[in-house]
Order: sequence, then structure tokens, then C-alpha cells
Amino acid sequence: MKNVIVVGSGAGGAAVARELAFYGINVTLLEKGRPILTENAHQCYDNLDVGVELLKATCLGGTTLVTAGNAVRSCQEELEAMGINLENEYWELERELNIGPLPDTHFGEGTLKIMDAASSLGLSMDKMPKFINPRECIPCGKCSFGCPRNAKWSSLNYLEEAENFGAKIIENSPVTRIVVTDGQISGVYSHEQKYMADMVILCAGAVETPRLLGTAGLVAGEHLFVDTFVTVGGVLKDIDFHKEISMNALYMGDGFILSPHYSSLINSRIGKNVTSEKDILGMMVKIRDERSGCVGDSTVIKNNTSHDVGLIAEGSSLAGAILTEAGVDPGSFVSTPARGAHPGGTAAIGEVVDENLETEISGLFVCDASVLPSAPGAPPVLTILALAKRLSKYISKN
Ligand SMILES: Cc1cc2nc3c(=O)[nH]c(=O)nc-3n(C[C@H](O)[C@H](O)[C@H](O)COP(=O)(O)OP(=O)(O)OC[C@H]3O[C@@H](n4cnc5c(N)ncnc54)[C@H](O)[C@@H]3O)c2cc1C
Repeated sequence: MKNVIVVGSGAGGAAVARELAFYGINVTLLEKGRPILTENAHQCYDNLDVGVELLKATCLGGTTLVTAGNAVRSCQEELEAMGINLENEYWELERELNIGPLPDTHFGEGTLKIMDAASSLGLSMDKMPKFINPRECIPCGKCSFGCPRNAKWSSLNYLEEAENFGAKIIENSPVTRIVVTDGQISGVYSHEQKYMADMVILCAGAVETPRLLGTAGLVAGEHLFVDTFVTVGGVLKDIDFHKEISMNALYMGDGFILSPHYSSLINSRIGKNVTSEKDILGMMVKIRDERSGCVGDSTVIKNNTSHDVGLIAEGSSLAGAILTEAGVDPGSFVSTPARGAHPGGTAAIGEVVDENLETEISGLFVCDASVLPSAPGAPPVLTILALAKRLSKYISKN
């Protein structure tokens, strides 16, 4: 039987471990972070200030513990053009995870005002598809801190299933080096211990995966994107928007998306002695940024290009128009600094891995946001899960 080592337990790692274990393959998953209660996931953010602020989490389950629960198909056309058809995998996932918009009971006044305002400006804003169980979710605005009620899908769900199918999950075990023998993968090192394997699948995220590839002599880490975003907001008295489900609606612009979003940074920028969190209404402007960043052994650089700044400005002016129509005092508008929550592209398909996600080293694969060929400008988890399903089918047949 094949021995497979999976490195990292976020979106890509948990999904590939679960699928491979389901097919009866011997899986050992090594995760750098520790296990944590979902409600405490915010303690595991290890953000990097790299020009834009890059958001990610290191713990069992990875960054999936702090998502907003958004589940959309992204990069589908780009991947299709590369010969990667994920239609079946999306279809399977949308059923397995009960993906869809939340019921009306889970829409708060702030989100509804934004949706109505968009509509009266002739803009089509739809309900966001979510992997959130509405029977467990009591809206509290805490998705990105870690769900207090486990109502949101995260990689922890898949890790539990992977273990039930026979996978071995080892936490607090950072992989530091990849071992290649005669051009073929032979294992990895963690804590000076060698783990032997017939195949290794790197899923350590777009910052750590290229560094691990570097230990095997592969060149990776160029062309980092992050789906740069800002939150634009202002004052609407007593709206209580901070307790609503974040990003519960979606407007698709040309190169950017808009979504209702609260950020405490809005409140602090306006001045906490001037206004309170219950008086803020805001929107996220998230762009499809250029792949202008890079990851080195000890550095990450990602600045906004003039193209990125143009898209942020365009999206922000539209968000401002919608928020004004929704009743926000236009004199109170502020914006957060640029941040990025979707790092990817650093081991892209067609550049570092082939269409089966294999590197030029036989048996060494990558399955995380690193492989995405361009910035999705939209939530990437569903596409990473679909790629993991496709890869697992490929490995189980070969
Ligand atoms: C606040 C926030 C909200 C978000 N909301 C959404 C959303 O609603 N929908 C959506 O689709 N996306 C969302 N995202 C983005 C999404 O979470 C990421 O794109 C996705 O988790 C990336 O998956 P990944 O497998 O590449 O990396 P990760 O999920 O980050 O997993 C990488 C894993 O590898 C581990 N690791 C790192 N180095 C090593 C090592 N050397 N050895 C072993 N393990 C290692 C890490 O600890 C981590 O567990 C959000 C992100 C943030 C920050």
C-alpha cells in the first residue's frame, strides 16, 4: 500500500488526507500548529506585515478556522482553460457541505439595508453561498474569530473523518525539510525525525509551501497574490451590524467584489470616543490583485501595484455610494489599510506543478492555495477542496 505524507492540515491538507484515507491509502498528516477550540482560533493568527497585511492562521485546521464561511466557485474558468475540469468535484462538495445561502432568519438589518441600497442603485447583490449550518448558527459576528458554536465547516470536520478512515494526524510537528533520493521523493523531516513516504503532498499554505519546495532545490515563491481587500465604512446609528453574519451578500464587479463587512478598525479610525461599534456599517472591497509579491526563505513582499490601487479605488467608490444610499453619514467614511486573506500562486499550476499538481520531483505534490494560477478575487476554499478531491482520485488510480 502507498504511504503518503500530507504536510499541513488547512483547506488543502485536511481535504486530501480525508479523501486519500477514504480510498484506503496509508496517510500520515504532519501539522505545525496545535489543536485549539474553534472559538479560540483567533489566538492562532500569525499575520505578516509585508506591504499589505497578510492574514493567516497556524493551528490544527489552519486558516479554515477563521473563514467567514463563504463557499463560491473561483478560478473555475482559468483552471478549465488549463485542462482541469472541476465540475464533478464542485458538485460533490456543494452537496456534502450543504452549500447555499442562509435563510432569511440569518440576515440582519445592516446587510438587508446594503442589499436594498445596491438594488435601488441598479446593482445586483445576491445572498452569499455559505458552508454554515443555520440550525447551529446564532448570528454573533464572530466567524473570523473562530465559531463559538461549530456551526461553520472547517478543516476540523474533515480531519475527524480522515482519522475515522484510518489517517494518522500528528500535531505540533513542523516539517522542515523534504528528502529526495535519486530524483524521487523519499520522505520529510520534522523535529529531526525522518518520516519515510512514497509520496508527499505539501499543503502548508502559500507562504510555507514554497519554502519547503526550496529545501528540495525547486524554485518557487514567485508571483504571490493575496486578494487584497479594504473595508470601507461609516456611521449609521444603532445598526448593530457588528453582530451580523459577516459577508452574507455578494456583488461581483469587474476585477473586484463587494460584500457587507464589519471591521473594528473602522471604529478605531473614526475614533472610539466619537462612535461605538454598534453604530458602524461597512463593506469589504476585495480585488483580484496582480501576482506581484514573492516569498523568500525569510522574507515575504507584497505591495499594491498601480493596477491594484485603481481597482481598490473603483470598488471603494461604489461601496461608498451603496453605503450612502443605505443611510451611512457620508462625512464619516473611513477605510482600513490594505490587507490580504487569500495568499496563493507561489507554486502555480503550469509553473511549479503540472496539471496533476506534481512537481518535477516524482511523487512530490502540492495541494493548497499555492497552486492557484491567478488571484481568484473571491473566496478560494471551495476550489482548493475541489482540487484536493481531484488529486486524490488521480493518486488512488495511479
Ligand atoms: C479572516 C479570513 C477569512 C477568510 N474567509 C474565507 C471564506 O469565507 N471563504 C474562503 O473560501 N476563504 C476564506 N479565507 C481564505 C482561506 O482561509 C484560505 O485561502 C485557505 O485556508 C488556504 O488554504 P491552504 O490549505 O492554502 O492554507 P491554510 O488553510 O492556511 O493551511 C496551511 C496549514 O499548514 C500548516 N503549516 C504551515 N507550515 C507548516 C510546516 N512547515 N509543517 C507542517 N504544517 C505547516 C499551517 O499551520 C496550516 O494548518 C479567509 C481567510 C482569512 C484569514
